Amino acid sequence: MYSTDALQQVVEVAAEHAARVDTDGVFPAEAVGALRSSGLLGLTLPEQVGGLGAGPVEFTEVVGELAAVCGSTAMIYLMHAAAAVTVAAAPPPGMPNLLSAMATGEALGTLAFSEKGSRSHFWAPVSTSTMTERGDAVGLRADKSWVTSAGHADVYVVSTGSPSGVAGEVDMYAVPGATPGLSVVGSFSGLGLRGNASAPMSIDTTVPVGARLGGQSAGFGLMMETVLPWFNLGNAAVSLGLAGSAHAAAVSHVGGARLEHVGQTLAALPTIRAQIARMGITLAAQRAYLAMAATSVGAPDDATLTHVLGIKASANDAALTITESAMRVCGGAAFSNHLPIERAFRDARAGSVMAPTADALYDFYGRAVTGLPLF
Ligand SMILES: Cc1cc2nc3c(=O)[nH]c(=O)nc-3n(C[C@H](O)[C@H](O)[C@H](O)COP(=O)(O)OP(=O)(O)OC[C@H]3O[C@@H](n4cnc5c(N)ncnc54)[C@H](O)[C@@H]3O)c2cc1C
Repeated sequence: MYSTDALQQVVEVAAEHAARVDTDGVFPAEAVGALRSSGLLGLTLPEQVGGLGAGPVEFTEVVGELAAVCGSTAMIYLMHAAAAVTVAAAPPPGMPNLLSAMATGEALGTLAFSEKGSRSHFWAPVSTSTMTERGDAVGLRADKSWVTSAGHADVYVVSTGSPSGVAGEVDMYAVPGATPGLSVVGSFSGLGLRGNASAPMSIDTTVPVGARLGGQSAGFGLMMETVLPWFNLGNAAVSLGLAGSAHAAAVSHVGGARLEHVGQTLAALPTIRAQIARMGITLAAQRAYLAMAATSVGAPDDATLTHVLGIKASANDAALTITESAMRVCGGAAFSNHLPIERAFRDARAGSVMAPTADALYDFYGRAVTGLPLF
């Protein structure tokens, strides 16, 4: 179980720096520093390695609270957690201390999956890996298109095509940030999540076979069984954290902003009240769906796969609608940055295009419920 005091301390630091992180497009070093010392980087890792042993429900709570104050910090945290649970599922034998370093905050991790060649289809890397003649090392060659925490992470969980060369076979390696041949080759300047440092990276290096997560060609299974559920839950929690903060700011604004000539607040307008109601109801329904999906991932049943596929898409789209409504009901006050709504509006645009994208997930969901293979 995590300490709510520890979370609140991180939330305060993240909130203090969020506006500057967004305006200047800088990595939230203070918030990440607070996360490192809070113990929360090990939230979902086993207690035996120094983690807190929490499950998916607690994970979505923590991510949601971070997102409500700083979307960039929440996304950086989510990418670390997704990398950490994947390392925990298949620890690389040559890196016996990696998991405890990720649990205790010494090592910030991230996922380097998306590639220039296969775009949002992260499950189909076009990158290559080649086993050395002695069979104890692997050459990796990859052009990664977006890597959150690029240049700031201590370890990158990198996907590549397997040395088998068989289409669809994927390997995953834990690559330390200081590895020669691992380089950030561009900068990140996005509409939202501007502190993410989600920059392109080039990988042209050789790593020991012992850095591999699981056996050869185990990467695709890890993506589907471990990364997908945790990433989708966390990404949905980011969307709802952002939507929740926009909704709260909108409720507060329309209840306080006055039309002095008629002696009323904006909340006296029925159209505004109806939009506030729709936002609140959608948010409540999505939060309930997220709690159900997280519970289901913690104790899998027949519906877990569809919940995992459905929750990210629906929360991403709900956040688009809610943050847009918040902008609308708050008028110029939101547009001109007087309220903490336009940042949430911009940050919320990222969720649906982060892979698996919302549109891809709707297709997968439809396939799952109609008995078609996902791929
Ligand atoms: C802020 C941010 C941070 C990111 N961080 C990381 C990270 O840390 N690690 C990482 O690996 N990646 C990361 N990504 C990359 C992300 O996961 C996606 O790969 C990327 O956003 C896809 O963009 P694209 O232009 O290549 O999409 P495209 O693949 O070109 O998609 C364009 C459109 O086609 C649609 N589409 C594509 N395939 C399908 C399908 N099968 N069915 C229906 N519609 C489809 C998409 O939904 C989208 O609307 C990040 C992205 C963002 C925006």
